[in-house]
Amino acid sequence: RNTVNILGIPVDNVSMGEALDIVKGFLNEDMVHTVYTPNSEIMMAAQRDPELKEILCEADLLVPDGAGVVLASKINGCPLKERVAGFDLTNLLFVDKSAENIKFFFLGGKPGVAEEAYKNLLERKININVSGIRDGYFSKDEEEEIIRQINNSNADVLLVALGAPKQEKWIHANKKRLKVKICIGVGGTFDVLSG
Ligand code: UDP
Repeated sequence: RNTVNILGIPVDNVSMGEALDIVKGFLNEDMVHTVYTPNSEIMMAAQRDPELKEILCEADLLVPDGAGVVLASKINGCPLKERVAGFDLTNLLFVDKSAENIKFFFLGGKPGVAEEAYKNLLERKININVSGIRDGYFSKDEEEEIIRQINNSNADVLLVALGAPKQEKWIHANKKRLKVKICIGVGGTFDVLSG
């Protein structure tokens, strides 16, 4: 992996196209992969939160979602290729040719928002395969059932929109129990797609 160290966290030095290829490569491996796209706010938060820092350091793909992170890399003298926003990466995966073989699970957002996002995608003729949807407002007691719902759906890619750093912590805590191939923290993506 070609990474650039920013505030003690190895960020992948990849273009958007390379990030997409890496994500698609994860689909061919039988294990759970984690993809996070921190902005500078989260990189800063990780300095005060050792657990978050560890989670970001352990990501299988960590790309900079924000001009601030790219700027920091330039100031450090090891420039990152470009900003790779989670929203853009996710949308590129939706329209990629390989997407017809991918089952997505949408987790997060207010009740009804992810359903609306999916509906809007279909209306725009982006015919992705969504095998399950669940809103992001649940209690600890409901987690077991949510994990079961995700695993029973046979999803390949789990999009988790609980906001950062909640989504990164949730993915990390549940990674071992999930049967998906990729978990991506996608922040406010469903809100944008539903609008
Ligand atoms: N969210 C959620 N459960 C929570 C908290 C937040 O599903 O317990 C959702 C919220 O509805 C929104 C998303 O997390 O859709 C991302 O929120 P925000 O835009 O604040 O996050 P960011 O993109 O800044 O990470």
